[in-house]
Amino acid sequence: MSCPQQHRYSTDFESIPYDQSQFNGRHKCAGCAYEQGHILVLSKAPSINIAFEALSDSQAGTVRYKSVQAVFSSGYLDGVLASYK
Ligand SMILES: [Zn+2]
Repeated sequence: MSCPQQHRYSTDFESIPYDQSQFNGRHKCAGCAYEQGHILVLSKAPSINIAFEALSDSQAGTVRYKSVQAVFSSGYLDGVLASYK
């Protein structure tokens, strides 16, 4: 399924490195990966994994070909930092 969300065009993802590895979430939406990482903080899970199969596909906008790992980690870190506020 292609991602229909507007985060595909967010300028927040412009600085994320490119990664087209077929083993690392190629063509998956980096915006959805950010949100997945951010939401995982709320679950208080003792360890985290990227659920690639749960991410929407996307080849549009600023999320195109971006590193799913980098943006997932960024979302997770932002969630952890927000939990201390
Ligand atoms: Zn998305």
